[in-house]
Amino acid sequence: MVIGNHLSCASGYEIMGQKELKLGGNTFAFFTRNPRGGAVREHDPEDAARLCKFMQAHNFGKLVAHAPYTLNVCSDKEKVRNFSREAMAEDLRRMEYLSGNYYNFHPGSHVGQGAEVAIPMIADAINYAVKPEYTTIVLLETMAGKGSEIGGTFAELRAILDLVEQQENVGVCFDTCHVWDGGYDIVNNLDGVLKEFDDIIGIDRLKAIHFNDSMNVCGSHKDRHQKIGQGEIGMDALKAVVKHPLLKDKPFILETPNDDAGYIKEIAMIRSW
Ligand code: FE
Ligand code: FE
Ligand code: ZN
Repeated sequence: MVIGNHLSCASGYEIMGQKELKLGGNTFAFFTRNPRGGAVREHDPEDAARLCKFMQAHNFGKLVAHAPYTLNVCSDKEKVRNFSREAMAEDLRRMEYLSGNYYNFHPGSHVGQGAEVAIPMIADAINYAVKPEYTTIVLLETMAGKGSEIGGTFAELRAILDLVEQQENVGVCFDTCHVWDGGYDIVNNLDGVLKEFDDIIGIDRLKAIHFNDSMNVCGSHKDRHQKIGQGEIGMDALKAVVKHPLLKDKPFILETPNDDAGYIKEIAMIRSW
């Protein structure tokens, strides 16, 4: 299987690959820039090329890069919207040096404007940032529906996708904690949730999994991640996600509250399933 975690420090491309290999992983996530600010880290094309070689040599699956949390392409402030879409465009230009991977982002928060105003803004940002020749696929993350977050329902993600011009360049990242917190009962009805995903979005759009347990109950809209098997989703239901025929070949990214030793144990445990 393809599994890894979200690496905390993005000190360099090849270093991240080496670090993930030590943790037992064969994919990883990383922030394309400071997660809480906008500052962009050093970008070294030669380092990117070394990571590509390293990933080939060690049979890595696709990477799932993560846009910073501060990016809000559907903000009510024009300045924030413009900064966010420029950051996305720059991130995607850089992602092409890693050719053929995923770039995941939070659709955004409408901050009182309403989903009907925000959804076209999100699609506009994607249309602005994605060039037809790009090999990177932009992933909309399923969200917990906290506050005014867009993407807490499959219908909202569908509405965004409908407005995207480059259809081959967009997909969805399925976050188990977020989907559960959003009210989709993957414990008692995983098949039903995936059926609903397929009916509304199309299962071929599901490209990657953020694999997390949740501190809260289904429908809580809280978004607090927990270690695998120690939260309200629990071991059995998460095992069923890993083993599901529609999901098992996707890259699984852990975003659980762990240190390196914890990730080594978690990755080994999931591989043993
Ligand atoms: Fe995320
Ligand atoms: Fe996530
Ligand atoms: Zn989360």
